[in-house]
Amino acid sequence: MSPRIGDQDLDVVIVGAGFAGLYMLHRLRGLGFSATVIESADDVGGTWYWNRYPGARCDIESVDYSYSFDPELQTEWHWSERYATQPEILRYLGHVADKHDLRRDIRFSTRVESATWDGDARRWSVRTDRGDQLRCRFYVMASGCLSLPKTPDIAGVDRFRGETYYTNRWPHAGVAFSGKRVAVIGTGSSGIQSIPIIARQAAALTVFQRTPNFSRPAFNGPVCAAKQTAFDADPAAYREAARWSRAGVPAEPTMVRTFQVSEQERLAKYEEAYASGDLLALSATFADIGADPRANETVCEFMRGKIRSIVHDPATAEALSPKDHFYGTKRPCLDTDYFETFNLPSVRLVDLRKDPIRTITETGIDTASRSLAFDAIVFATGFDAMTGALVAVDIRGRDGLALARKWVDGARTYLGLMTSGFPNFFTITGPGSPSVLSNMVVSIEQHVDWVSACLVHMRAARLAEVEPTPLAEAGWVQHVNDCGDVTLFPRANSWYMGANVPGKPRVFLPYVGGVDRYRKTCDEVVSQGYLGFAFDGPGGVRCNDGVVNRLQVDVATVLEVVAGRGLPPIETMSVADARALSVAMATDRPPGPDVGDVADGVLRGAAGPLAYRRYRPASPGPHPIVVYFHGGGWVLGGLDSDDPFCRHLCLQADAIVVSVDYRHAPEARFPAAADDGFAALRWIAANADALGGDASRLAVCGWSAGGNVATVACQMARDAGGPAIAGQVLITPVTDCDFTRESYVANADGYVLTTALMRWFWDQYADPADRRHPKASPLRARDLSGLPPALVVTCEFDPLRDEGAAYAEALAASGVEAQHLPCRGQIHTSVPAVDVILSAAGARDEVGATLRRFLGASTPAAASETRATLAAGRR
Ligand code: FAD
Ligand code: NAP
Repeated sequence: MSPRIGDQDLDVVIVGAGFAGLYMLHRLRGLGFSATVIESADDVGGTWYWNRYPGARCDIESVDYSYSFDPELQTEWHWSERYATQPEILRYLGHVADKHDLRRDIRFSTRVESATWDGDARRWSVRTDRGDQLRCRFYVMASGCLSLPKTPDIAGVDRFRGETYYTNRWPHAGVAFSGKRVAVIGTGSSGIQSIPIIARQAAALTVFQRTPNFSRPAFNGPVCAAKQTAFDADPAAYREAARWSRAGVPAEPTMVRTFQVSEQERLAKYEEAYASGDLLALSATFADIGADPRANETVCEFMRGKIRSIVHDPATAEALSPKDHFYGTKRPCLDTDYFETFNLPSVRLVDLRKDPIRTITETGIDTASRSLAFDAIVFATGFDAMTGALVAVDIRGRDGLALARKWVDGARTYLGLMTSGFPNFFTITGPGSPSVLSNMVVSIEQHVDWVSACLVHMRAARLAEVEPTPLAEAGWVQHVNDCGDVTLFPRANSWYMGANVPGKPRVFLPYVGGVDRYRKTCDEVVSQGYLGFAFDGPGGVRCNDGVVNRLQVDVATVLEVVAGRGLPPIETMSVADARALSVAMATDRPPGPDVGDVADGVLRGAAGPLAYRRYRPASPGPHPIVVYFHGGGWVLGGLDSDDPFCRHLCLQADAIVVSVDYRHAPEARFPAAADDGFAALRWIAANADALGGDASRLAVCGWSAGGNVATVACQMARDAGGPAIAGQVLITPVTDCDFTRESYVANADGYVLTTALMRWFWDQYADPADRRHPKASPLRARDLSGLPPALVVTCEFDPLRDEGAAYAEALAASGVEAQHLPCRGQIHTSVPAVDVILSAAGARDEVGATLRRFLGASTPAAASETRATLAAGRR
């Protein structure tokens, strides 16, 4: 046991001597800060000190799951296995501690109980269970995401008179199970790793499973030759690739979606990923596995097929097959002979969903249907993850605010690094950072480096306090939630959601935007003068307040892909080239949903025939009709360009959608598009019966320039006395030719539709003298009263944002029932991008619901299912 620390005044107190605490201490020392680590264990190692259960090993390959900060260490240490065992990882961390002489500044067998901010002294006051009282300028919790064991929530847990073990507090001397009747409760990673080994030792093993888990063979063995060769060729470059990867392991992300390939090709990819023994490989096979339920289900079924092929007894195989969560939404496992274990005659499975535990007794476990006797019970029941160890310490910030109280409805941080109201308090891999969704060593090193650099910055600038602003923190919490909401994660009852601990708020805890994006964000925050952090001290008061990452994460990804293509701006091209490009850009996108039937036809436009495409739902008609006008600046686009969106509208609104191919500029300039729009509307109303629709229930909808055509058609119909229109849905519409609006300035460039491109579109479409005509700029109509009810959708990062908002406002001011739906973090092209911009699903949902309301349509099964699905995916 270490001697008592006594009372000290330090620069930094660090809690925890695992991967994070060890590196934090090393870095700070090297930078000349005085620092002490406090650790409740009696040696270094953290996770790898505590989790000594049989079979414990890493599930990220050891070449990757190791420090990068010490080049010498990288070449002197050789892993004996692809996935190192707990003893080997512990030896590694012991070696690091020895090599850098870290133990002399670590106080073992000491638990931090409280930490209180003293605003007058600008110091943290840290108290331990051994009566130490430390003062420090900075307080760092490197206390681990998976370090506080979950209190077993099972009746009678203290009654059992036999041996009791917890995988996360395993006896150092090991456990002899031979000849014993053993129970294991829990089938997460710890249970799945230990069960095959305990089964081989015990006389009989009973596995109590509440939720079956996805697991696949690790195919452990010597270090993978290809990986080692890649690493040895250039360790620094290898590590740099890991730092800028999605999950902290070098890998190229795919853009290919599940249903873009044949079933045969898909299964071949799954087989390849399965055979690789790489934890991350299966989720990375296609771009949409983590977000699209249908895509994910193909992986789930593939994995269930594997279980059926291994486990002999069909009923046991069925019970072991996960069906209540999507693949990857609970951490998948890597195993050695896990499913094979259930073929042993000495092993039985108790499915707690069918036969729940009633109580633990003196001699064993009583389930609803039977009493089972055991000599030993192993709890593999997991952790109070991510926040548990943090709130277990009584941390008090400004004005005595308790961290546990601040986080009572869920953790709130800025970047997962700090939380407002708690100056100079850092969390390593805290909630809101990639942490547990990444190779944690990479994330730990990044956090330690960031915190160290921040402290150096403060020292140089003579700043005593740092704290995130409430604005920055709220923005980050929103961003973390937005990122989670486009994935399937929030639907699972996982520890990522806090769902494993009774009473814990249900909040998606980690940041799923990727290690690479996260690192870039942290770097950007620094380069923008520590955006969102407030500093105070002798050097002055500094704060560049603001919100980082305001774009939705999938929008940002699309913009990166577009930028990566290096295409010339459309407005510098000929019209023919621009049209060819817009057709090419649409070729590899998802096709949109199936509808009842789709037929092309010709209708009478203002100056001749126009092509149209009719989408009809599978439900029995007659249906209401939505007349749809595509986008493309009156120049580009057509029936194909908005096809996925029209399919989506057809399903969501349970209506016939007639998409109209109005004439394009510059061949047909103003007012051709407007006149065609109105002519098409009239023709469709007159021919509703033939289209299978109901002329008395007619709505219009349009996107961008199509929104312009739609709303002008409504004005023309009002003025002409018909046809009657039940409602108009205008998605990021052009309503006014006025480039002085704020959104044209703020969003001039970088969000696909640029101000320059908008000018080009206007140049193609209308002479300057015509541009303020209400048939071009409908916002300028003298009278907006008497128009159909409207939904106007605008996007935050769209040059057209303000004219859309102005139109909604003007409609309302004229007595029209007008609703404005502003979409946060979206760009001009987001809403029609079905199955690409998933974060706009809520807006698309609202469009469908509004159309149904306008049209008096009943809620169709398909639409309500989609709504329920979307609702389940959002908070
Ligand atoms: P920890 O290693 O958890 O260390 C935190 C330390 O803080 C602990 O020793 C704890 O005793 C101490 N502490 C906490 N509170 C206090 C207090 N109040 N006072 C004093 N001391 C305190 N991640 C991967 O990326 N890849 C893997 O393969 C992988 N395998 C894992 C296997 C297991 C069995 C488990 C449980 C986790 C695994 N993880 C894995 C996650 C793992 O936790 C991290 O990779 C990493 O080890 C965390 O290091 P850390 O230093 O942040 O936290
Ligand atoms: P876990 O994943 O949370 O699994 C706990 C298991 O116990 C689950 O099956 C859970 O069922 C069950 N359980 C909990 N309370 C129960 C109750 N009252 N009654 C019945 N069953 C109960 O915990 P873990 O296995 O320790 O793993 C935690 C994390 O640590 C992993 O996800 C991983 O990140 C890391 N880890 C990694 C490895 C590795 O391979 N390198 C190994 C171990 C751990 P429910 O699912 O129904 O809640």
